[in-house]
Amino acid sequence: MKKLAVISGKGGTGKTTFAANLALITDSVMLADCDVDAPNLHLLLSPEIIKSQDFYGARLAVKDADRCSDCGLCRELCHFQAIDAAGQIMDYKCEGCGLCVACCPERALKLVEHKTGDIFFSSCRSGSLVHARLKIGAENSGKLVSRVKTEAEKWAAEQGQQLVIIDGSPGVGCPVIASLSGADGALLISEPTLSGISDLKRIADLLEHFSIPGYLIINKHDINEELTDYLIDYCQERNIPLWAKVPFDTAVVRALERGEPVLEYSADSPFSRQLKQVKAMLEERILGK
Ligand code: SF4
Ligand code: SF4
Repeated sequence: MKKLAVISGKGGTGKTTFAANLALITDSVMLADCDVDAPNLHLLLSPEIIKSQDFYGARLAVKDADRCSDCGLCRELCHFQAIDAAGQIMDYKCEGCGLCVACCPERALKLVEHKTGDIFFSSCRSGSLVHARLKIGAENSGKLVSRVKTEAEKWAAEQGQQLVIIDGSPGVGCPVIASLSGADGALLISEPTLSGISDLKRIADLLEHFSIPGYLIINKHDINEELTDYLIDYCQERNIPLWAKVPFDTAVVRALERGEPVLEYSADSPFSRQLKQVKAMLEERILGK
């Protein structure tokens, strides 16, 4: 089974649109929505949830009031001011560092796993989808990304699927590193803007660091042909071949307005034609067909 991450360095470049539509025209594919802070693959693919799992992404201090002598040491030591004057632990402030647990003279405190999200296993228009929902304000999305990816790989193996397409997190931080780890390749969706170039350079460094082959897709290349040429030259120097140049396409806008995959809205739009070229490259370079 092969794993292809779709990443962009930032949101709003069409990453999810590419991931969803590529999955629609590829056989035997599992999708993993690893953009867990702002998941939206489910909006395009109308998934039907088959099963779900709880995600425990945090450990919080919990007090046994019967053992507490109210000495106040934990409140004094907590660097996050997570314990109020009455000795109550405020969950939303607790970072689970464990200092209070280690220092409590009465052994009245312990760290307890805390549910911070849900993982869903769904069937959808393109086949199967693993996606997640992080509780509002919950942290540790990198850990949830790893779980979504691992569960997607396990489920794909059970179903004998040939490819996992990972809709990665934006940025270059912990969640995107978690999205990329172990991938056989990464599709870089970029736009010819100054911020797009800056993001792409950081992503290129990341791919080089992890020795993951990257493939470039320039979205809306016609908004600035000069910067498009720059992107292509830069990526050539970094050994990132160009797989597709997609023009601004009103079919994409119309499809998104209707909440439909572009291919279902217009199978012969410029976007759809370029996507078929990407599929051919994917089959040749990654799936070895
Ligand atoms: S350190 Fe332990 S005994 Fe002292 S107030 Fe905190 S929980 Fe209670
Ligand atoms: S675990 Fe750390 S952050 Fe949480 S209450 Fe104890 S000392 Fe404060």
